[in-house]
Amino acid sequence: MSISIENKTRTFSKEEQAAFASHVDAALALLLKQDYIDERISKSDAEVSVDIRLVGEDAIRKLNREHRKKDAVTDVLSFPILYMTDGELSDDLMPYDYSYDEKEKKLLPIGDVVICVERARSQAVKYGHSLEREMCFLAVHSFLHLLGFDHENGRDETLMFEQQEKILAAIGLPRDPSAKEHAASDAVISAKTDTDEHPVGEMLPHCGYCALVGRPNVGKSTLLNTISGMKLAIVSHKPQTTRNNIQAIYNRDDAQVIFVDTPGIHKPQSKLSEFMVDSSFRAAKGADVIVLMADGRFSKPAGVEVRAAEMARKLKKPIILAVNKADAVTKESLLPLIANYSQIADFEAIIPISALKDDGVDELMEVIISHLPAQPRYFPIEEVTDQSEREIAAELIREQILHYTNEEIPHGTAVEIDSFEEKLKEDAMDSYDRDLISIHASIICEKDSHKSILLGKNGQMIKRIGTAARENIEKMTECKVFLDLHVKVRKDWKNRQVFLDEFGYKKKDD
Ligand code: GDP
Ligand code: MG
Repeated sequence: MSISIENKTRTFSKEEQAAFASHVDAALALLLKQDYIDERISKSDAEVSVDIRLVGEDAIRKLNREHRKKDAVTDVLSFPILYMTDGELSDDLMPYDYSYDEKEKKLLPIGDVVICVERARSQAVKYGHSLEREMCFLAVHSFLHLLGFDHENGRDETLMFEQQEKILAAIGLPRDPSAKEHAASDAVISAKTDTDEHPVGEMLPHCGYCALVGRPNVGKSTLLNTISGMKLAIVSHKPQTTRNNIQAIYNRDDAQVIFVDTPGIHKPQSKLSEFMVDSSFRAAKGADVIVLMADGRFSKPAGVEVRAAEMARKLKKPIILAVNKADAVTKESLLPLIANYSQIADFEAIIPISALKDDGVDELMEVIISHLPAQPRYFPIEEVTDQSEREIAAELIREQILHYTNEEIPHGTAVEIDSFEEKLKEDAMDSYDRDLISIHASIICEKDSHKSILLGKNGQMIKRIGTAARENIEKMTECKVFLDLHVKVRKDWKNRQVFLDEFGYKKKDD
C-alpha cells in the first residue's frame, strides 16, 4: 500500500502534512483488510496506491468545472480508476491496471483524491473538531469511493458512514460526541466514463504506436476497419492495396492505440515495392509493440514472417501473433501453425482472431494496450485517422478501380486528387457544415491499353468506378459529393522516383 501526497498549498504546514500522512496510511491499510474488499485487491502482489493532492479553492473549483460542469468549491473530489461496487471489482484486473514506480515496484493504482485544505479548515471550525480529523474524514470518505462505495447512487448510505467512523476511530481520530453531525459534500468522478482528461496523479491512459505487419492479404486492413468501426484503409481481395501507412487511431477512455498499417513485408521488385518495404520497417521502428498477422489457413511461416520476427528481435520490440481468418479453419488446424510460429519468435501472446467477424479482436486489443506506456494521448480523442479527407478520397477511388478492373491494372495505377473544393452551407456553424464537395481526380496508369480498360466501352467503366467511389466518399464526408475522374497515361511511372514523390510515396528520412 502506498499513498503519495502532493501538497500544492502554502497553508498546510510540513508538520500537519506529516501527521496527515501517517493517519491516512494507517486508515487505508485498515480499510484494505476489511472483508468486503475484493481479494484480487487485498491479496494482490501489487501495492495498492492512491495519490492525494492537497489544493486551494481555485484549483478545486477548476476541477469541478472541468469534470462536473459545476462552478463550485467542494471539500473533496475522488477519481476512481477501477470499476468497483461496494469493495468488489466489476472486471478482472488486466495487465494495464498495474503500474511500476521508479524502483520497479509493482503498484495497483485505485484512484486519486483531491482535497481542498481551505475548505477542510473552515468545515473543521464549523463542525467543532480538529483539522486533522476533518482532513482524515475526507480522505477515508474518498478511499471508500475509490473502492466503489457510493452514497450518491442511492446505495446503502449507513454502511459507508459506519465504515468511515469505524476506521477513523481505529486510527485514533474518533468523532467528538459534542461535534455536530457532518457528511462530506464531496463528489466522485468516474475516471473511466466522464472524461478523457486526467489532470491528477497517475491516471494517464495507455498510449502508443502499434505496427501491424504481415504479408499482403492476411487481413490487416480488415482488422483496422473492424477496430475503428469506420472504413479507413482499403479492403480488397487483391494484394498490396494499402500503400501509405494509414494510421487508424483507436480511442478508449483508458487507452489510445495508433495503428500503422504497413504495406506488407516482401521482396522489393520495383521502386514502389521498395518504398513499401521501407515504410513497414520504419513503422515498426517507431512502434511500441508489433503485431504480426498470419493467415490461419497456412500453417508454415514464410520468409516474410521470419523477417518480421527478426525485425522485432533486432528492434527489441514486443511482438504479438494474431492468427487471422480463424473463422475459416478449425481450432485443431491452428495447432501446427502455433507450433511452427513459436519457433521463429518469442511471442508475447498468440491470439486467433477473425478480423472479418470481429472475433478475438477485443482480446487482441487488451494485449496490445498492456504493452503501451501510460502517457498522455498523442492525438485528441475525436480524431480517427491522421489522413486527410483528400487522401482518403484518393484511396476510396483506388479501391473501386481495384474492384472493377482486372488483375493487371491495379499495380500500375495511382490516383491523384487535382482539386478538392468545399462549399459551406449558408448558415454553416463550422467548417464541416458543408453543402457540397467537388473533387477532380486523375487516375494515372502505365499503358494506353490500361487507359482503355479503365475508360471502358462508351466510358462505362469509369462511370461505374466514379459512382461507387462517390457514394463511399459521401459516406465518409457525410456530405454530397461531385466527383470528376480523368484517366492519364504516364509510362513506367512506377520506376521513376519523381512520380513516386509526386504521388506522395515519399521515402522519409528517419
Ligand atoms: P491486407 O492486405 O492484409 O490489408 O488484407 P485485407 O484486409 O485487404 O483482406 C484481404 C482479404 O481477406 C479480403 O478479401 C478480406 O475480406 C479477407 N479477410 C480479412 N479478414 C478475414 C477474416 O477474419 N476471415 C476471413 N474469412 N476472411 C478475411
Ligand atoms: Mg491492406
